Amino acid sequence: MTGMPPSPHLAHAPAVVVTGIGQLVTADPLLGDLSPLGVVTGAALVLQGEQVVWAGPAAAAPAADAAVDVGGRAVVPGFVDSHAHLVFAGDRADEFEARMAGRRYAAGGIRRTVEATRAATDQQLAARAASLVGEMLRQGTTTIEIKSGYGLTVADEARSLAVARTLTTETTFLGAHVVPAEMADDPAEYVRLVCGPMLEACAPHARWVDAFCERGAFDADQARAVLTAGMAAGLQPRLHANQLGPGPGVQLACELGAAAVDHCTYLSDADLDALAAAGTVATLLPGVEFSTRSPWPDARRLSAAGVTVAVATDCNPGSSYTSSMPLCVALAVREMGMTAGEALWSATAGGARALRRDDVGRLSPGARADLVVLDAPTYVHLAYRPGVPLVHRVWHGARPVTG
Ligand SMILES: [Zn+2]
Repeated sequence: MTGMPPSPHLAHAPAVVVTGIGQLVTADPLLGDLSPLGVVTGAALVLQGEQVVWAGPAAAAPAADAAVDVGGRAVVPGFVDSHAHLVFAGDRADEFEARMAGRRYAAGGIRRTVEATRAATDQQLAARAASLVGEMLRQGTTTIEIKSGYGLTVADEARSLAVARTLTTETTFLGAHVVPAEMADDPAEYVRLVCGPMLEACAPHARWVDAFCERGAFDADQARAVLTAGMAAGLQPRLHANQLGPGPGVQLACELGAAAVDHCTYLSDADLDALAAAGTVATLLPGVEFSTRSPWPDARRLSAAGVTVAVATDCNPGSSYTSSMPLCVALAVREMGMTAGEALWSATAGGARALRRDDVGRLSPGARADLVVLDAPTYVHLAYRPGVPLVHRVWHGARPVTG
């Protein structure tokens, strides 16, 4: 959780030096070119235990027990996907196809996935989620947030989070995703359920509490009730908001000190000011605009206002069924106005900030040894060569992951 120096037992773990790094992105502004990306050319990294213990120019690298040469390739931090919904059953390819034929996305489609998720066994949910995590890891994502939100009963939300917790420490209770069909006539009663028995059953499995503050989902008062109840139960707040139109969600998230507010497609100038003042991260989810053929948020406007921006997949079967952070980086560059460097920062260090983590999203001493070797001389290829499988090799906690 912190950037503490290596513990003394690491002295006994073998050190591995990764050499032949043509371009190293540390995402540590104190290293390399002193930019937010902290780029070092002709670099080496030393990994020991599960951590990075040294990063810098290859000529200055300390001796190690073993060496791995990556042949001049670029190395970047493992991606931090701070927004994903991986516990579900079923598929909505037909809905996607209909949307591409001209129908607009509406929040109610979530209820189809709720039906399928409730009908699935624990084993089916766990197998699907684990398969998606594997898919993400092979594409370079080494930290993943996973939400509930397709159960929407006490038992189904709790088991969704129990599955999520076997795959990540970044688990989020999203009982307030939509009002389930059987309670559509009494949303107030559903909010009471979420804030009471459902929260009680889910809090032991969750780090975060979230709500979908949007027309067709929950209004500001309802979202506030859910987040404050979650905070009273020891969870930290984050929010889905301002996706389908302008709304009160960003202001609410900032007022409650949320780590992040996600989507942020429609923002007023007052929303930008609130985000910058609160230090709440705006998480952009380009897979959603891509998959719903919706207007793109303007990342330039956010950065000009001094807002910290993260990029994540929102991987889910309805509005963004991609697990690919490289695709999201390419879309953020092409469609949201980011530079390749800004998009990579937002997909690594930005995601770490959205999860209040300082041990991931960077490659400097004290960080977890989560790194991606690209089949490319520079990180720019992530956006320059969209759709190309550029991930050559991944180390997760200093352990090599094969494709
Ligand atoms: Zn989402």
